[in-house]
Amino acid sequence: MLGSAPRPNPGTDRDTTDVVVIGAGLAGLAAARHLTTAGLRVTVLEAAEEIGGRMATEEVDGYRLDHSVRPLSADWPELSRCPGLEELVLRPFSSGVLVRAGDRTLRVVPPRAPRPLMGAEGAYAAVGALTGARRPTNVGAVGGTLGTTLGGTLDLARLRAQLARLATTSTRRLRARPELPASRAPVLRGLPPRTVEGVLRPLLGALLCDPELTTSSRVGDLALRGFARGGLCLPRGGASALPRALAAGLPAGTVHTGVRVTSVAVNAVVTRELGTLRCRAVLIATGARDAAELLPGLRVPGFHPVTVLHHAVEDAAADAVPATGPALVLDAGRSGPVAYSTVASAVDPSRARPGRALVTSVVLGPAAARPPAGLERTARAQLARLYGVPTGRWRLLAARHDPWAVPAAPPPHDPRRSVRVLYGLYVCGDHRDFPDAQGALRSARRAAEAIRRDFGIRTCPQGPPLSAAA
Ligand SMILES: Cc1cc2nc3c(=O)[nH]c(=O)nc-3n(C[C@H](O)[C@H](O)[C@H](O)COP(=O)(O)OP(=O)(O)OC[C@H]3O[C@@H](n4cnc5c(N)ncnc54)[C@H](O)[C@@H]3O)c2cc1C
Repeated sequence: MLGSAPRPNPGTDRDTTDVVVIGAGLAGLAAARHLTTAGLRVTVLEAAEEIGGRMATEEVDGYRLDHSVRPLSADWPELSRCPGLEELVLRPFSSGVLVRAGDRTLRVVPPRAPRPLMGAEGAYAAVGALTGARRPTNVGAVGGTLGTTLGGTLDLARLRAQLARLATTSTRRLRARPELPASRAPVLRGLPPRTVEGVLRPLLGALLCDPELTTSSRVGDLALRGFARGGLCLPRGGASALPRALAAGLPAGTVHTGVRVTSVAVNAVVTRELGTLRCRAVLIATGARDAAELLPGLRVPGFHPVTVLHHAVEDAAADAVPATGPALVLDAGRSGPVAYSTVASAVDPSRARPGRALVTSVVLGPAAARPPAGLERTARAQLARLYGVPTGRWRLLAARHDPWAVPAAPPPHDPRRSVRVLYGLYVCGDHRDFPDAQGALRSARRAAEAIRRDFGIRTCPQGPPLSAAA
């Protein structure tokens, strides 16, 4: 929490701020960075006691638990375009993605993964059946014996070619494709149904937090291309590393936590805790539902719910520790509520004390709405099958359900929804752009640019002009 920063005094500090930003999630903090870089005085007001919004990380018994377990793509242009995020340390899923169906496992490693498996030849390596084994066998044997569930050698070669093609396809060409639900996206065509059902659909569903694949194919194409180009990563130290890095570069006293804005005008905001604060412009950087309360009439999308389960494995020497290494494990067989799981501390050791392991699992779709107790019991049994280890002694650290985790983006989806309501009033966040953290960052840059333009400031927010941004 940044509560130690001096709070604005409504009696004396009025008119000292150019822009009030509402919300210290990724979008609000990124916008504040762009605006302060352009020389503007900014005050960020956050209702919660901590910054980060949906990308907060909580510390429990020495474990770092993310509210949202967002496997980031290493191919994220906005990371280099936002001041403060250039130095972010990303920890790769260097063992790739393990797609598990029944007793078979397929390992998919992108060509540009930091530690590609031997024999990948610039594409993807596959492993044979894991069948009860605690360690993958035949690592690097492209097109191992995979049985009929996940496809055979020829199917895998087709999959490799499809993903390699996608990795080199430009954004312009992707945008030129017809926009459909992701379930009918062109990238899923030309492959045998078992490869689509067994590998691509679960992977895409996990990337979009949308197992039904109702999301626009344009959003899906970019998500899958991000994976094909750079693999997946977790930020070192937890998801909150992003908002913390953004906040660290703001002038002292910019961010005020524990302050809820109750109404807005173009030149003032009213808060519960501090009364009225005047300013030259207001930027609403909350989630869609909170934004619509402050700006009645603003469109509120549907949402994809997500439940995240964090388990501690206290005795890391015991046979209860999964041996998957830093991999993302997808349950393509849908044998339980968990869509994907990972030993988060194997990807990022800072998430657990030495000698302990943190297993993080994500439930998507309707299953995410089930009551946590029953859900966790079923998930624990499923995780024992997925990892091939006993899970009875795993300790549940947290079960977090968020019914509004990810805004739905069915076709037609406009990723450049206007961020300027009128002169002095702006709105940004993942509901104005791509429905993810990168969209939150990009919408923040667009909003900062709109404010700068309205204020007649020539300095450009970091990065290329938005028209050129992919
Ligand atoms: C469980 C979960 C899993 C997720 N998984 C994925 C994933 O796999 N892939 C993916 O792309 N994305 C995922 N996301 C979504 C991703 O985290 C968000 O897209 C991103 O964090 C949105 O950032 P934001 O700044 O737009 O909004 P938020 O992070 O919601 O920030 C808004 C902030 O505004 C504050 N606020 C609200 N109202 C007020 C008010 N009146 N006054 C003051 N402050 C206010 C809130 O407290 C909050 O801190 C997931 C989210 C969750 C919760």
